[in-house]
Amino acid sequence: MKNLLETAPADVAAEDLRTHLDSASVPALIMLTVHVTGDTSLLRDEWRPSLPTLPESGLPAEVDAEARLVCFEALAPHLDRQQDWDSEPSDELREQITTWLMSAPVEDALALSKVSFVPNGEDPRTPDWTLDEVAPDSALSAVVIGTGFSGLLAGLRFKQAGLPFTIIEKNHDVGGTWWENTYPDCRTDVRSHIYTYSFVQSDWPTHFGRQALIHDYLHRFAVDNGLMDHIEFGHEVTAATWNEDEQTWTVETKTDDGEEKIFDTNVLVSAVGQLNKPSYPNIEGIDSFKGTTLHSARWDHDVDFTGKRVAVIGTGASALQFAPPIARVADEMTIFQRSAPWLKNTPVLRQDIDPGERWLLNHLHQYRAYYRYSIFLPRVVGNLPNATVDPEYGPTEKSVSAANEQLRKDLTAYLADQADGDEELLAQITPNYPPAAKRIICDDGTWVKTLKRDNVRLVTHVVTRVDETGVWFGDEHVKADIIIFGTGFKAADFLMPMTITGTEGRDLHEEWGIDASAFMGTALPGYPNFFCMYGPNTNTVIHGNLVFFLECQANYIADAVKVLAEDGKKSLNLKPEVFEEYDKKIVAESSKRTWGWSKTHSWYMNAEGRSTIMWPLPAREYYEGTHHVRREHFDFK
Ligand code: NAP
Repeated sequence: MKNLLETAPADVAAEDLRTHLDSASVPALIMLTVHVTGDTSLLRDEWRPSLPTLPESGLPAEVDAEARLVCFEALAPHLDRQQDWDSEPSDELREQITTWLMSAPVEDALALSKVSFVPNGEDPRTPDWTLDEVAPDSALSAVVIGTGFSGLLAGLRFKQAGLPFTIIEKNHDVGGTWWENTYPDCRTDVRSHIYTYSFVQSDWPTHFGRQALIHDYLHRFAVDNGLMDHIEFGHEVTAATWNEDEQTWTVETKTDDGEEKIFDTNVLVSAVGQLNKPSYPNIEGIDSFKGTTLHSARWDHDVDFTGKRVAVIGTGASALQFAPPIARVADEMTIFQRSAPWLKNTPVLRQDIDPGERWLLNHLHQYRAYYRYSIFLPRVVGNLPNATVDPEYGPTEKSVSAANEQLRKDLTAYLADQADGDEELLAQITPNYPPAAKRIICDDGTWVKTLKRDNVRLVTHVVTRVDETGVWFGDEHVKADIIIFGTGFKAADFLMPMTITGTEGRDLHEEWGIDASAFMGTALPGYPNFFCMYGPNTNTVIHGNLVFFLECQANYIADAVKVLAEDGKKSLNLKPEVFEEYDKKIVAESSKRTWGWSKTHSWYMNAEGRSTIMWPLPAREYYEGTHHVRREHFDFK
């Protein structure tokens, strides 16, 4: 897989474009043609795509064919001058293109359009400063914990700014959750072209990237950007303590063989992720089981499932990926489902990208940028109204508003289609909670096909106990050789098991209890110069993009360092009143969203029913809130 950051546009022959034209995603091709020719008459109403089908138009094939041909004729005279094409549309053109693409809600789309369009080969959010320029005598430095998507990005921004930094990683390779999760068919269910840093695209072979390639992408990102030399592998952070006198953090680490090492730093970034501590169910008798147990996040590739009786506990995103290939080789599989997942019809989930489309993505300059734009923008703007509780509607565990009810009907129609007349199965696979109360899982028909296999049984009772030979539910016993826990992560245990000690000896976990919260998910009063990435309330359900949120956080943290350097200060500490006002808003807004309102089980809610995981506001507000550090939010020393 090629890294395309450095690719310079080469000339393209018209006949080559003609050859691959039928593979073009029409919305991207139209936007690119308008970009190159300035001819906005191509933004025709009858060619406007349907938002849910993007990057495909969702229009009849003959309409797509007509649009492709018109675009081809308009583009052909310009193909031998690709390197002269503007890298970005003018503000006016971008506005027209965006208004055409996003029939609604246009206001948020326009607000996010500039940051959403990333020209090929450019990194618009590179820090516009270096420590040398801003404060040549500064002794500032940083430590980052973790080398997943977040930590590597923080490292890059520090490197670009010329800030000395170290990244501490407990594993022996980069990648975080994409290094640790290696279960069969592990892949992202976010489209590859937006599950990458916006400014480092790749030649993805599939629409949804497989784990090994995502890990490879992150590894290459670290190598290509010179981050490897900054990483201390095999060191787990055990504690971090703020020193008031020096205005620094002391970071304590331990290696696998017990060696201890201390790092001192001004700025500390926790980029430890949310999905790295496997959650094991507390089931009576589990330790007495004589067979093999394994968790999706701690896969043992020596376990052979061929001809075995396998029990799977959990039906979340991970189980829906690992269970189907195992069911194909196991003798019997019993799947224990506590709650059914909502499924979203995603036919290309396991498909390769068409070779013609790959040619266009790799050869037609800025086509990739528009292709990404057409996927990214609708998803980052999202569809919060579908997940918003309408008190007038009379919300129930079926649906919480008229829009949510429509979504429920659409998703139920897909399930009915899958069950194909099997009413008993349909009842089993239909969730008993409103859509968007938890993650809606992408599906290409594989899940229900698996459930319909002769050797697979779906049990909708909870497991009551485990004994030496298998699993009990109620009075029934199921014999098993292997039990697989697809039971997820302790996502709400932010930053565990590190001890973080802030000013005046305050302990972060004691202060948080089970209610983790941080301003914009990043900063906290009493913990100067300490920032979280992918911290509390920075995940999204149907209105955002995780990598975009990480890019916002990295931008915010780099800006905080710039402020420290510019002002000649040693520390900045969030004002308690800023945090309290923010926190109240997050609690209030979360309760208005399906996931904060529904009483269904989910890792989005803590034991007291507070949502510490999800961002409850439009993505635009996250972008605007992290675009710059506001000095008035902090006390400085
Ligand atoms: P998950 O979404 O938390 O699902 C865990 C499953 O186990 C749920 O079905 C849950 O039931 C069940 N469960 C948990 N505790 C149980 C218990 N004590 N008894 C019976 N059932 C129990 O975990 P996951 O599937 O590993 O996914 C976690 C997150 O990782 C996802 O939401 C997603 O963000 C990410 N992920 C993404 C991908 C992807 O991109 N394709 C793949 C895998 C994971 P309830 O629903 O009733 O709680």
